Amino acid sequence: TTTGISASDRAKTINAIADPKTKASDFAKPGHIFPLVAKNEGVLRRAGHTEAVVDLMKLAKLNPAGILCEIMDEDGTMMRVPQLRKFADKHKFKLITIADLIAYRRKTEKLVRCKTIVSMPSVYGDFKLHLYENILDEHDYSIALVKGNIADGEPVLTRVHSECFTGDVLGSKRCDCGDQLAKAMQMVEEEGRGVVLYMRQEGRGIGLVNKLLAYELQEKGKDTVEANEELGFKPDLRDYGIGAQILKDLGVSKIKLMTNNPMKIIGLKGHGLEVVERVPIEIHPNADNEKYLKTKQEKMGHLFMIHN
Ligand SMILES: [Zn+2]
Repeated sequence: TTTGISASDRAKTINAIADPKTKASDFAKPGHIFPLVAKNEGVLRRAGHTEAVVDLMKLAKLNPAGILCEIMDEDGTMMRVPQLRKFADKHKFKLITIADLIAYRRKTEKLVRCKTIVSMPSVYGDFKLHLYENILDEHDYSIALVKGNIADGEPVLTRVHSECFTGDVLGSKRCDCGDQLAKAMQMVEEEGRGVVLYMRQEGRGIGLVNKLLAYELQEKGKDTVEANEELGFKPDLRDYGIGAQILKDLGVSKIKLMTNNPMKIIGLKGHGLEVVERVPIEIHPNADNEKYLKTKQEKMGHLFMIHN
């Protein structure tokens, strides 16, 4: 190249960068092209344009290098999605967002790995505990309690349980989580075959600290949904993608889902699992959780009867 500034010099430089045989010493520095390095796991680790470019190249089975260019609007600012949508329509370009790419990769790639399997005798019966870790985050793990042969293609009695420290461990009467977990394990034991997935998504995904702050608001008269909204959270942040991937890894494709929550059925269906039946878990309310259960039923569409 000459100065490196002209379009043809820049094109040569870009071609050289994309060529795996090029060495660092082949370039004059400083130059006029800004090299960027994508994170290995792409948009699933960092939702950036750099990662999006390399991910698209990998999905197309091409050399994982590309050019990215922001498009400037008439007023000198960078175009955002609404302006880009118009621009793409006008020039008949295809348009994809980073969010689309994340959703696609989460759906098509395996993000879980079974780390170990151990025996787990319990007061409810004997299970095999499969420890799953999230490939993208080693601190994010989930547990599958498995009973019997669940990989034979027949529908499997399944519970996808979201962690509730206060309910599961402390036996809190503010909710029915602990009772539901116990009941699910009992039901799988009675059936002789099934799986209880324990997902570490405390307090509908908002974390223990925020859940306890929401409790404080509830003590001042708010219900569960109102309290979460006041703290700035959507009523339910749980993502069932990882759960669906674990079930698939265990060889499960058809499930008899133990739940009172219709959102859970939709969440799992979106990931290619067939929910052949919904098996209700009915818990008798106590004086402390009656209001919580009523809110679940009235505001969140949970399907169960409250027995008084
Ligand atoms: Zn709970």
